[in-house]
Amino acid sequence: MILLVALVGLLGLAVGSFLNVVVWRVPRGESVVSPPSACPRCGHEIRPRDNVPVLSWLILRGRCRDCGEPISARYPLVEAATGLLFAGAAWFTGVAWVLPAALYLVAIGVALTLIDLDTKRLPNAIVLPSYLVAAALLALASWNPGGASDWGAMVRALIGCGALYAFYFALILIYPGGMGFGDVKLAGVLGLYLGWFGWAALVTGAFAAFLLGGLFSIGLMIAGRAGRKSSVPFGPWMLAGAAVGILVGHDIWTWYSGAL
Ligand SMILES: [Zn+2]
Repeated sequence: MILLVALVGLLGLAVGSFLNVVVWRVPRGESVVSPPSACPRCGHEIRPRDNVPVLSWLILRGRCRDCGEPISARYPLVEAATGLLFAGAAWFTGVAWVLPAALYLVAIGVALTLIDLDTKRLPNAIVLPSYLVAAALLALASWNPGGASDWGAMVRALIGCGALYAFYFALILIYPGGMGFGDVKLAGVLGLYLGWFGWAALVTGAFAAFLLGGLFSIGLMIAGRAGRKSSVPFGPWMLAGAAVGILVGHDIWTWYSGAL
């Protein structure tokens, strides 16, 4: 188990390095595979030994080897965070067929959070293929080769997908200024995951997004940093809410029905 968590954490560092490329290039409509990464100032291609997640940045003290241009601390931080989140996902699922689906969610979650904060957009290039990838990976988890299949979870996933998509679609019809259509499309993907993990996860995950986003907005207003009109991207809160739903939705639901 410790070995699995450590290996998946290392994989996360490498994926985080790739996500830095995704976050920069996808909103600009550029390819994520070519050309290879280069210094934006001097144009020197990044050498493989200078492309080791986190370590290279520390060894180079955050500067380009060729021209000394500062390299943002955001890059190693994204790599470290992705590594930790991957390790955490492996810890949560253990050795299970749902782990690939969970890691995919973490990867798109990190990328979409950063892109939404940078550009206030959730690119179709990431969200739309995620319907197919997530459905395929969750179907693998339901199939559970070598163990008992749970196709009921897959049926719940499809219902969750439709339900959360419809819910967000209704919200932008009722309150057009509030959210974008990008949020509606992401809701369908998150509904797949939340439904797969259970009805409690679906309800808690949907509710937690609004609770967390609302508390943050109120906090900003109290701090005088934002007026009622300033728009805060909602994608990161949808993703954070989904994480809450998956991790503790079942526990919250058990506690809540006991308290009634
Ligand atoms: Zn340079």
